[in-house]
Amino acid sequence: MRLVTTVVVGDLTCHALEGGRQALDGGAMFGVVPKPLWSKRIAPDDRNRIPLAMRCLLVEHPEGLILIDTALGNKENAKFYDIYGMSNAADPAGGRPTQLEDAIAQAGFGSDEIRWVINTHLHFDHAGGNTTIGGGADPVPVPSFPNATYVVQRSELDYARHTNERTRASYLAANFEPIAAEDRWSLVEGGCEILPGIWSRPTPGHVPSHQSLVIRSAGDTMVFLGDLIPTAHHLPLAWIMGYDVEPLRTLESKRLLLEEAVRERWLLCFEHDARVVVGRAVEGAKSAVLEEIRTVDGVDRAEGPK
Ligand SMILES: [Zn+2]
Repeated sequence: MRLVTTVVVGDLTCHALEGGRQALDGGAMFGVVPKPLWSKRIAPDDRNRIPLAMRCLLVEHPEGLILIDTALGNKENAKFYDIYGMSNAADPAGGRPTQLEDAIAQAGFGSDEIRWVINTHLHFDHAGGNTTIGGGADPVPVPSFPNATYVVQRSELDYARHTNERTRASYLAANFEPIAAEDRWSLVEGGCEILPGIWSRPTPGHVPSHQSLVIRSAGDTMVFLGDLIPTAHHLPLAWIMGYDVEPLRTLESKRLLLEEAVRERWLLCFEHDARVVVGRAVEGAKSAVLEEIRTVDGVDRAEGPK
């Protein structure tokens, strides 16, 4: 498996980065979809878990390098790795580099060159790499990207700080408070152009202030979906994760985005699909389907993105 898949979107070069793997309960990943249906498309292991990526996107932008989402980071221990089926994110005994840092290096860059970090939302598998700990007896998390401004929806940071019994396990303060302590958050509100051609598109449902990132350049468009459509298996509108706090809002967010994506032939970049990195959305018989698929094993079909 390669760690970097480079995709050109108009004038922008983007690198999809493999930040590690996790394995989550297949039933939770497909919500109300019965196991006989989902297990035909993706086989569970002996603990009923399916393999998932933690993919991030690096964009070479004229205003500086942009990193969208940061995978798990290096702060979690072996027990955490076992519960969530984490592998390859970092050494759970503590240490660096993380697989995300390896992938950034393979793309030809260093962490200190990242100018912007944008989070789809602040769950640990998307924002864990925002911060890092070194060694020592009492390690303190600090921002992983010393020269970056971090961007998230203002209401998502507020949501992460006010959890309840249902949402608590996903929001770990060490992933976002050290950024606040250094006053590095740039908080956005609603849909907006964060940088030229880089748009926040609110896609509520997984969490109320989830955002997908739409990259537009020279007539081409790619969307980094985050947890709106975590894998290509989730393209059918009703295939929605049990983890989503507002599944009917996910449904409407998906419906709106996929209509537009199919009409304009957007590239879809999947954060959690263990195989499919990116594909171009086209209309299928029952749901949107993909053309120009690019996979982590490098077996690309069709002509590939231009
Ligand atoms: Zn996720």
